[in-house]
Amino acid sequence: EKIIIAIDGYSSTGKSTIAKRLARELGYIYVDTGAMYRAVTLFAMENGLLDGEVADREGLIRKLGDINIRFVLNDGLGYAETFLNNVNVEERIRTMEVSNRVSGVAAISEVRHKLVEEQRKMGEGKGIVMDGRDIGTVVFPDAELKLFMTASPEIRATRRYKELLGKGKEVTYEEVLENVIDRDYIDSHRKDSPLMKAPDAIELDNTDMGKDEQFERIYNHAMR
Ligand code: C5P
Repeated sequence: EKIIIAIDGYSSTGKSTIAKRLARELGYIYVDTGAMYRAVTLFAMENGLLDGEVADREGLIRKLGDINIRFVLNDGLGYAETFLNNVNVEERIRTMEVSNRVSGVAAISEVRHKLVEEQRKMGEGKGIVMDGRDIGTVVFPDAELKLFMTASPEIRATRRYKELLGKGKEVTYEEVLENVIDRDYIDSHRKDSPLMKAPDAIELDNTDMGKDEQFERIYNHAMR
């Protein structure tokens, strides 16, 4: 019987790595909801709907109907890539420019409303692993398995920094640490669906845990 697996937690806690692997092992669909908020942010940047790092709230709300986000499976990569209005934006939504602005955009209720509705539709057939900040609390409060991932800010920034360097991005560790801390703060303090652990979520602190150990634990929960 197929279920819904909701994975929430702080920034750069390895949610997507675990989610992708779970989806692959279980034959489920993986949905990266952070990519959707990032795509809306990129849209705002490209359409003059941001003033510096701050979103032009009203302007963006008016344009929400023009934003179409889809995931298209890339067979070579083995996972889906993000398309914004039929353009592959997978690379461009991962830049620091987007990372520094996305939490402000994600705090806009109208943006959340649109994306949550789309996420619920994606989960209709079950057999889904979805990661984000509000999946177990808001998107799928009845999800059969909920995880909440945490780790120290320093270890998260270190992992993220290495990942970005590996991709040839020019960043400093300090910049990444600041971004991780800022996003967590904004995400946890916004009015609409703040980042928090669902009461029935299993908390997993992976500060001192390897990827395989972590995966084994979660996989065992999923098989129960
Ligand atoms: O998961 P990722 O780090 O790519 O998410 C980027 C940002 O999108 C988060 O920092 C948060 O502001 C927002 N987000 C959200 N709700 C989700 C997923 C992401 O608010 N379900």
